[in-house]
Amino acid sequence: MSAVLTEEQKLIQQTARDFAMREVLPAANALDPERKDIPLSLIQRAAELGFFGLLIPEEYGGLGLGCLEYCLVTEELSRAWMSMGSIIRPMIGMQALSPEQRQRYLPRMARGEALGAFAFSEPNAGSDLSNIQCRARREGDEWVITGNKYWCTFADGADYILVLARTDPSAQRHRGISAFIVDKPRGSLPPGVSGAPIPKIGYFGWKTWELAFDGCRVPAANMVGEEGKGFYVATSGLEVARAHTAARAIGLARGALEDATAYARERVQFGHSLSEFQAIRFKLARMATEIEAARQLLYFVCRLIDTGERCDKEAAMAKLQATEMAERVTSEALQIHGGAGYTTLHAVERYWRDARLTKIFEGTSEIQMRIISDHLLGRNRA
Ligand SMILES: Cc1cc2nc3c(=O)[nH]c(=O)nc-3n(C[C@H](O)[C@H](O)[C@H](O)COP(=O)(O)OP(=O)(O)OC[C@H]3O[C@@H](n4cnc5c(N)ncnc54)[C@H](O)[C@@H]3O)c2cc1C
Repeated sequence: MSAVLTEEQKLIQQTARDFAMREVLPAANALDPERKDIPLSLIQRAAELGFFGLLIPEEYGGLGLGCLEYCLVTEELSRAWMSMGSIIRPMIGMQALSPEQRQRYLPRMARGEALGAFAFSEPNAGSDLSNIQCRARREGDEWVITGNKYWCTFADGADYILVLARTDPSAQRHRGISAFIVDKPRGSLPPGVSGAPIPKIGYFGWKTWELAFDGCRVPAANMVGEEGKGFYVATSGLEVARAHTAARAIGLARGALEDATAYARERVQFGHSLSEFQAIRFKLARMATEIEAARQLLYFVCRLIDTGERCDKEAAMAKLQATEMAERVTSEALQIHGGAGYTTLHAVERYWRDARLTKIFEGTSEIQMRIISDHLLGRNRA
């Protein structure tokens, strides 16, 4: 339903679609079953197309576009490979960067030369991020980070890791936490940090790490936002993050629907193509309807974000709706493939595995429902 988009938005969408289908999809089909990383050449192509700078202001070399354009591109890339839809995400809490940090990082980010990872979660702090225990102690002009992090995607390949650490251990919960940019060489972990990849079941294209910070030194100038306000850095921009995840889920579901439709046309049983069986046709019809409903809710949320309206509840709804839909739709698509769907020879198994993750990261479905019900019951603090 592209009629609601402007000509410029349709052009951006088409550019992303061409890149995704011609370059990302073949790479994903070849590399994901082997659990290989996203090739640098794809990252460079995405950079040339401006995808790392979609949300970065023009004065820093970005395209200065809105959340809707960002989500249009994200849906297209995720339709081919969710990890590519994820890698274009700009730094979380970018708004909190100081003028000097903006000069230092944003132009490089816009060019795809400063790729980021974030290390917020810990073994005992997932949904409850305010429980993080990782510590940062001030020593002269540096902060020294010590503690364990869990689930840091792309810790090795990134050029920096945004880390949350407790700078005031006497402060309770979300107070006393600060955010730091840990610069690092691409291809290895930062000095003072060791780790190992977590054996996950999907979201291939990059590794997700368990990290041990053991005296990792960061210049004081790399603190993002005010000391003790890092929790707000991490949670600022959550509406955009939820919209981004909804777009990733919609991309996966669309990939699954398109593949299932093609398979239903080709596969013959009982002397007819599967597409002639009403049971299959109705599945396809329901899948398409669910995708479009989730997409329209997402567009609505993007427009609220782009006009500067707070939409915590609606963004949570869009994330919840799209990700739960993606799990159902990718599962039905796999079913339409029959046994072929349960092999790594068809991309549908990748869509299904990756869709499962969208219900877990960026705030689980239960956390989204908590946010929505808080609004309904008047318990939100916004
Ligand atoms: C593949 C992968 C990549 C990731 N990448 C990153 C990354 O790059 N950086 C990073 O910082 N993190 C990352 N994460 C972490 C992710 O954000 C967390 O997994 C997520 O927030 C959930 O936390 P948890 O796994 O500790 O689950 P828990 O918080 O332990 O939750 C377990 C279950 O309890 C439910 N639950 C928890 N609290 C409540 C409540 N109050 N009410 C109702 N139900 C509740 C949850 O919904 C869930 O079903 C990644 C995770 C995965 C799996």
